[in-house]
Amino acid sequence: MASGTSMGASSEVVRDMNRRLVLNLVRTRQPLSRADLARLSGLQRSTISLIVDQLIGERWIVEGPTGRLPRGRRPTFLRLNEDRRIIGVDIRPTQITIAVADVHGKFTSQQVFPTPPQPKPALEEIVDHLRDIMQSGRNGTIEGIGITLPGRYDETRSRLVFAPNLKWTECDLRGPVESATGLPVSLENAANACVLAAVWFGHRDPVRNLVTLTVSEGIGAGVLVNGEVARGSNGMAGEFGHVPLAQDGPRCGCGSRGCWEVFASNKAALRYYAESKPHEERLLFPDLLRLADQGDTRAIKAIEKMAHFLGRGMRMIIAGLAPERIDVIGDLTQAWHRYSPIVEEEVQAQVLSGGRAPRIVPIHEDGLARLRGTVPMVLAKDFGDATDWHPPTVKSVESSAAD
Ligand SMILES: [Zn+2]
Repeated sequence: MASGTSMGASSEVVRDMNRRLVLNLVRTRQPLSRADLARLSGLQRSTISLIVDQLIGERWIVEGPTGRLPRGRRPTFLRLNEDRRIIGVDIRPTQITIAVADVHGKFTSQQVFPTPPQPKPALEEIVDHLRDIMQSGRNGTIEGIGITLPGRYDETRSRLVFAPNLKWTECDLRGPVESATGLPVSLENAANACVLAAVWFGHRDPVRNLVTLTVSEGIGAGVLVNGEVARGSNGMAGEFGHVPLAQDGPRCGCGSRGCWEVFASNKAALRYYAESKPHEERLLFPDLLRLADQGDTRAIKAIEKMAHFLGRGMRMIIAGLAPERIDVIGDLTQAWHRYSPIVEEEVQAQVLSGGRAPRIVPIHEDGLARLRGTVPMVLAKDFGDATDWHPPTVKSVESSAAD
C-alpha cells in the first residue's frame, strides 16, 4: 500500500464535495429552503445548516425573500449571490468582446473592439479594458476571468498553439493577464466553452453526447463524449474543421487544402458568392444573409452551398461519435428556417443502418454562447467542473418544502 487514502475520502474531501453539492443545488434549483437541500442532497439537516451558514458567511448564498407555502409555513429561501461576477473575454479573428456576467450567465455590460494582428498589443488592449471594469466599482466581486479562443490552448505549456484563423504567433495568454489583474484566468477553446455552457446551463435537458459547432470564419468543434469533454492527448481533439474533404480544394488557413471549413464556413459562402459575381465589392457574412433575405439568388445559392457542405461534414461527426445532439452556433442560425432543411437532408441521407440522426439545434445567442462558457470555466474552482455535476433525480422540490 503506497498511500494512506485507500480507507476512503478524508473529511476535508467530503466537506468539499458536500459544499459543491449544496452550491450546485442552489444554482440549479433556487429558490429553495434548507429542508429542500437536505432532501435533495440526502445530507443531514445539521450538515446542511453548517454548510449553508458557511456559504452565507462567504457571501456565496443569500437568504430571502421568505416563501409562502400552504398551512401558514414560511421557510426562508436561499439563492446564489448575484453580486459574484465573472469577466468573459471572447477572442475572435476579427473582434474581441469583453463582458461581465453574474453567476447565472446574465451579462450586464459588453465592450467590443477589433482584434489587433499580434498578441502583444491585443493583450495590452484587453488588460486596459479589464482594469476599467475592475475599477468602475459597478461590478460586484469579480471571481476571475475566462478567455475563449478560436484555437487550441496547450495547458501544459500555457501556450496558444493552433489558431489558423487568428494567425497570432505562439504565445502565453494567461501569465500577462493574471499578473496585470491579480485575478485567476482560465482559457478554453471557443467550441469547448460552448460545450461547457450547454452542460452548465442545460441542466434541465441533460445531454451526455454532444457536439457543438461554431460556424464563423472557420468551423470549430467541441466534443462531449459520455459526459466528458474530449481533449485528446495534446488538447487538439475536435479539429473536424481541418479534415480535408477534397485534396485539390482551396487552400486553408492551417496550410492544408480542401478542409471542411473552407467549404462550410462563413468565409466559404462569401467565396461562393464572389465566384458567382466577380468584381463585386467585398461583403461580410451578415451582408450576404441580408441579400439572401431580399431575394438575391446568387446570395441564396452561396449560402445553400455552404449549408450543403455543413451537413455533409456533419456525417463524419455522426459516424464517428454518434452524438445525441449537434448544436450549431453562428450567424447562419439567424436564417436557420431557410437553410436547415438542406443540412438535415445531407445528414439524413447518410445515417448508418442501426444509427439514429442527432437533433441539430441552432443556438440563437447574439454572440454570447462562447461568453456564457466562461461562467463555468471561472466558477469551476468553487462549483467543480461543469461535467462533474449531475442533478439528483428527485421529482418535485415544492412537495416537501414545508419547513
Ligand atoms: Zn485546415
